[in-house]
Amino acid sequence: MTPVRLLGAADIRTLAAELDVTPTKKLGQNFVVDANTVRKIVQTARVTGGERVVEIGPGLGSLTLAILETGARVSAVEIDPRLAARLPQTAAERGVPDGHLEVVLHDAMTVEELPGDPTVLVANLPYNVSVPVLLHFMRTFPRLERGVVMVQAEVGERLAAGPGSKIYGAPSLKAAWYGAWRLAGTVSRHVFWPVPNVDSVLVAFERAETPAGTLKERERTFRLIDLAFQQRRKMLRQALAGALGGSAARASEILESAGVAPTARGESLSLADFLAVARAQAAHG
Ligand code: SAM
Repeated sequence: MTPVRLLGAADIRTLAAELDVTPTKKLGQNFVVDANTVRKIVQTARVTGGERVVEIGPGLGSLTLAILETGARVSAVEIDPRLAARLPQTAAERGVPDGHLEVVLHDAMTVEELPGDPTVLVANLPYNVSVPVLLHFMRTFPRLERGVVMVQAEVGERLAAGPGSKIYGAPSLKAAWYGAWRLAGTVSRHVFWPVPNVDSVLVAFERAETPAGTLKERERTFRLIDLAFQQRRKMLRQALAGALGGSAARASEILESAGVAPTARGESLSLADFLAVARAQAAHG
């Protein structure tokens, strides 16, 4: 362990005042003001010294310092220039050795390169972009092998949901393409400043050792998933008619050849089912 002094509620207020930062909803700025919470996130992610972690949206540094406390190195991607500029100084003032933290000033939705090739993702995600940002990271950084993120409870439940559940949908299936996702604890809204009006959960993921399919198959599968859930109440032979041969009759044949009932709805299909349909679609030209 590296002796690092974590941030408390008073430190967060002082830093925000110094930077003249008023947290904005647009950037999902709810800062964690409780050391136990950030330590719990880092423990859940099983971060150890010697690892390289990527953090999305480090903000004032609450979670960043808890990761650095383990001795791990951090690459942190922050969109707000005032926060990105202050973070190295905060780390140095609080006992983080030189070279352990790299801050990248960039929109995490479009970042394509990360210093140090991180293998672990740990983040308290900006809530308005949590799913697209996660999917961008899973797609763009295949070396990421596991992680823990804090998200809005409803989003976390969706990510971890399986077929048949009411909240199962496109995010659940697309996340499942990359590996296994599970709920890993709840977080009180009172550990944030400002206090958000939603509850939060931790979600843990482990990347699958082998990808579910090829990149081309992923594109086809995701397109079918989007179509199936855009018209959630429709049977697949209707919802997918345009993509599978142009008519409900032709779509039924292709669905059957994939072992999927044409009268089923997207919410009852597993990722393997959608992939089988994508493969049948490719085979039938
Ligand atoms: N990690 C800090 C904590 O736990 O206290 C802050 C978390 S706060 C929920 C989200 C952070 O993500 C903010 O610092 C915000 O500026 C940043 N952020 C918002 N949108 C972003 C984006 N598209 N790319 C990178 N950072 C972003």
